[in-house]
Amino acid sequence: MIDGQPEVNPSPSTGLKTGAAWVDGRIIPISKASIPINDWGLIHSDITYDVVPVWEGAFFRFELYLARFFRSMAALRLNPGIDQAGVANALHDLVAATGLQKAYVAMVATRGVNRVPGSRDPRDCHNRFFAWCVPYIHVIALDIADTGAQVHIASSVCRISPNSVDPRIKNYHWGDFTKGLFEAKALGAETVILLDADGHVTEGPGFNVFAVKDKRLVTPERGVLHGISRQTVIEIAADLGLEVEIRDLPVSEFLQSDEVFITTSGGGVAPITRVDDHIFSNDAPGELTLALHRAYFEWAARPENRTPITYPD
Ligand SMILES: *Cc1c(COP(=O)(O)O)cnc(C)c1O
Repeated sequence: MIDGQPEVNPSPSTGLKTGAAWVDGRIIPISKASIPINDWGLIHSDITYDVVPVWEGAFFRFELYLARFFRSMAALRLNPGIDQAGVANALHDLVAATGLQKAYVAMVATRGVNRVPGSRDPRDCHNRFFAWCVPYIHVIALDIADTGAQVHIASSVCRISPNSVDPRIKNYHWGDFTKGLFEAKALGAETVILLDADGHVTEGPGFNVFAVKDKRLVTPERGVLHGISRQTVIEIAADLGLEVEIRDLPVSEFLQSDEVFITTSGGGVAPITRVDDHIFSNDAPGELTLALHRAYFEWAARPENRTPITYPD
C-alpha cells in the first residue's frame, strides 16, 4: 500500500493488452520491462532489432523476418544464446499472451553490459535478447494513407553512409532520421525521405521508397535496408508482370515520377501524393500504388505467408 491506496494487480489480459515484453523467458507488461542503464545498446547504439507484423492472428512471412534478424546479429557478432526456434517460440508466446490479433512485434539483441570492470572490449559484454509487442502501429496513419501522405526530402541532413553504418542491418542509429523528422514536421509533412551524399533517394524512418514511371517500378538498391515489405512488393510486381528496376534513384528522376509510394511492415504499401511542392498522380493515391496495396493484403491472407498464433482460451 502506498498512501493508503491498495496496490492494483491487473489480470494478465488487461495488463498485457496494451503491450507486453519477453525478458529472460518471462512475459511482463511492457511498462515493467527495463534494461540496465549501462547496456551497450543504450550507451553505444550497439544493438540490432527486427519487427514482424501480426495480421489477423498470424505472423506475416515469419521465416524471412527471423532470418534477417539472425543475419543482422551475425554481422554484428552478437550471440545472445538463443536460436531461431527459440526466438520464434518467444515471439509466439508473447503475442499469444496479449491476445492481440494485429500487432507490432519487435525482437531485439543488444551487446549488453560489460562484465569486466573498466573494460572497453566488446567481447567482454554479455549479449542479451528480448522482445516486445504492442497493438499494430501504422508508420503513416490510416486516414492519411487513404488519401496519400505528404513527405519532405531533408535538406539539412543526408542518410548516414553505408560505409559507416550498414543499413541492411536494422539499427537504432536514427540521428539522421530524427533530424529529418524535425525538419519535416516543421513543414507540416507526415514524414521524411533522406538522400545520400550524391543526391540519390535512400529511405525514411522505417520505410523503403518506390517510384513508378510508365508502369515501371524503381527502388534504390544501395544505402537502404532491404525491407521485407520491399521484397514482397518486388515479388508481387513480378507476379503482375510489372518491371522493377533496383538501382540508384537520383532525386531529379524521383521527382518526375508518375506515382510514389513507401513500403513498411507498419502498414504495407502507403501512397505518397506530395513530396515538398511536387504533386503526384493528381494529388490522390496512384492506380498502380492502390493495386499493390491491395495485393499486399491478399498476400498477407495467403496460408503460405501466415504463421498462425495459438491464443489461450
Ligand atoms: C524497418 C525499416 C524499413 C522497412 O523494412 P520492412 O522489413 O519492410 O519493415 C526500411 N527502412 C528502415 C530504415 C527500417 O528500419
